[in-house]
Amino acid sequence: MSEVNEVNGLILFSKKHRDKDKLVKIFTEQQGKVMFFMRNAMKKNNPLTAATQPFSYGTYIGKINQDGLSFLNAAKNVESFRNIQQDIFLTAYATYILNLVDVAIDDQTYDPALYGFTRDILKLMDEGKDPEILTNIFEIQLLNRFGLEFEWIHCRICGEVHGKFDFSSAYLGVICEKDFYRDERRYHASPKAMHFIRMFSSISLEQIHSISLSAEVKQEIRRTIDMIYEEYVGIFLKSKKFIDDMSNWQNILLDKQTEKSDNPSKDID
Ligand SMILES: [Zn+2]
Repeated sequence: MSEVNEVNGLILFSKKHRDKDKLVKIFTEQQGKVMFFMRNAMKKNNPLTAATQPFSYGTYIGKINQDGLSFLNAAKNVESFRNIQQDIFLTAYATYILNLVDVAIDDQTYDPALYGFTRDILKLMDEGKDPEILTNIFEIQLLNRFGLEFEWIHCRICGEVHGKFDFSSAYLGVICEKDFYRDERRYHASPKAMHFIRMFSSISLEQIHSISLSAEVKQEIRRTIDMIYEEYVGIFLKSKKFIDDMSNWQNILLDKQTEKSDNPSKDID
């Protein structure tokens, strides 16, 4: 049984299906993630082509089936995150966030809170807020969707909320400096990184404008969240690998530019 539904949605991805058709996965506010079939999507001037571009969101109308494919018929009020679409670095972070959503919850699982959170994170990224900080906040707050309920605020042993903290797998959360000796195998993460990760665990998006981090602290945060994801989530995403590689080739590009300006005669030869 199926009916015509009108849902708010965010495009997760689309891919070609046979010669003329397309499969589009949409994270909807009302029905969770839904895979839609679009007949003749590759035809020129199909109005749904623009409406299903990556990093678009709007109202989508179609038949949603509980089993098998659903069918997309129309769309309205569609908008795009233009800056994300046009900037390869922002595209990389936003793609990773959408990939995480896709693995974190099952299809057709009602989760309007995660829908709103994902849309708001991408909106802020599109408006120019720091993509690394937004990605880190998303990663930390998404952990409970993987069934991971870590304690981030209070020391798991004595309840302390001030001072230096570290992450402990044995205690499934943070422990304070006084209790470090109880777990030799704690993460030995930088206290600064832990300070911000604890903050990210409960931060509201209105507060993020006040955060500015050095490259060094960002790297420490990245390293610590990677350890948590490797130990507990255990997924491999190409988009994450791309982000990791990005910092490397960013440096290569910078080196090339310096090389050029160091040898101004090179071009003349
Ligand atoms: Zn303690």
